[in-house]
Amino acid sequence: SNRNVNAGIFIKCFAGGKVPLGLKRKNLRVLVTGGAGFVGSHLVDRLIERGDSVIVVDNFFTGQKENLLHHLNNPKFELVRHDVVEPILLEVDHIYHLACPASPVHYKDHKTNVMGTLNMLGLAKRVGARFLITSTSEVYGDPLQHPQVETYWGNVNPIGVRSCYDEGKRTAETLAMDYHRGLNVEVRIARIFNTYGPRMCIDDGRVVSNFVAQALRKQPLTVYGDGKQTRSFQYVSDLVEGLMRLMEGNHVGPFNLGNPGEFTMLELAKVVQETIDPNAKIEFKPNTEDDPHKRKPDISKAKQLLGWEPTVSLRQGLPRMVDDFRRRIFGDDKLDSG
Ligand code: NAD
Ligand code: UDP
Ligand code: UDP
Repeated sequence: SNRNVNAGIFIKCFAGGKVPLGLKRKNLRVLVTGGAGFVGSHLVDRLIERGDSVIVVDNFFTGQKENLLHHLNNPKFELVRHDVVEPILLEVDHIYHLACPASPVHYKDHKTNVMGTLNMLGLAKRVGARFLITSTSEVYGDPLQHPQVETYWGNVNPIGVRSCYDEGKRTAETLAMDYHRGLNVEVRIARIFNTYGPRMCIDDGRVVSNFVAQALRKQPLTVYGDGKQTRSFQYVSDLVEGLMRLMEGNHVGPFNLGNPGEFTMLELAKVVQETIDPNAKIEFKPNTEDDPHKRKPDISKAKQLLGWEPTVSLRQGLPRMVDDFRRRIFGDDKLDSG
């Protein structure tokens, strides 16, 4: 299915592959910061598949070289170990700026969001590249509006335990808009809602990876609080499709990219039980401070302006992730990674 979606974009760009020689879409040089991570590595797969030249810049803080091993022999692929907090000189056409310590246990880094984004915007300005920032639904904080529309300004605690992440992303959006309005940098802003899939960090503390790993290891699923808080879970291939459409399109955004299917954590636990182990136990634990009660994207804008909407439901996507987790946890290479 990935391939079919990809063909969609391909056909659009090449007008059915029947364009006369010379009018072909230019072979793009694309920088993906954070490309060794979960989302980034799936994005790189798609870009390479359609023939772009890709440079990944990553400091391997949460990402892994393993996610990109299959590209290392490709002359159109380059992997640079570098922290985006430091300046870097590269010549590229598009920048997907994903680098960010994005998981709850690594939350602590405002600096990457501010200085990393500033450097990548400086680079975009210098070489005239188009710049896409992966912001987050967390910019809405503990939202007072439901579902969240892009015009909603959010309800964020500036000094809370989560604020290094959500305020960091808000600053990153601000910087992007400053460079856009003041310095004519072409920017694109994506607000990503909870995403899951193969290559997710196994132990980074996010709910889907926790539940799946726990069920596979025959440990109880840890539900925080009363489990009635909601999230909307998007499969990674849908997100990558949305990011590429946003980059190629003519709209700055911000755009919500997420799956509107909304689940309580107890419902999610049930889907995990159904998928992996009906006998998996549930254990309640205290919730973290400032945990948003509800979250669900309004994706009308992306539907209308990008022609995008998710196609993979939680029940379809979860088994693909489970195959990958099973292989990584138990080291069974005979199982397919999905
Ligand atoms: P990830 O942790 O798997 O990927 C982030 C990557 O950035 C990693 O490879 C990490 O090593 C790299 N990195 C971190 N700090 C860096 C630095 N200073 N210099 C260079 N590289 C650095 O996370 P992900 O889930 O793939 O997230 C990708 C992007 O999408 C992030 O910007 C994140 O905030 C955003 N996002 C993700 C989700 C989600 O549910 N996965 C939701 C909202 C937003
Ligand atoms: N920068 C970078 N690579 C480049 C161009 C700039 O890393 O190719 C960094 C630069 O070092 C600076 C930041 O991006 O820290 C912002 O650059 P800009 O030129 O916009 O701002 P200035 O240097 O004028 O403050
Ligand atoms: N959560 C949970 N059990 C876990 C991990 C998280 O019940 O083992 C809850 C958490 O309290 C939150 C929701 O799941 O309400 C989503 O948490 P996650 O960290 O995955 O994403 P975010 O809060 O950033 O949306």
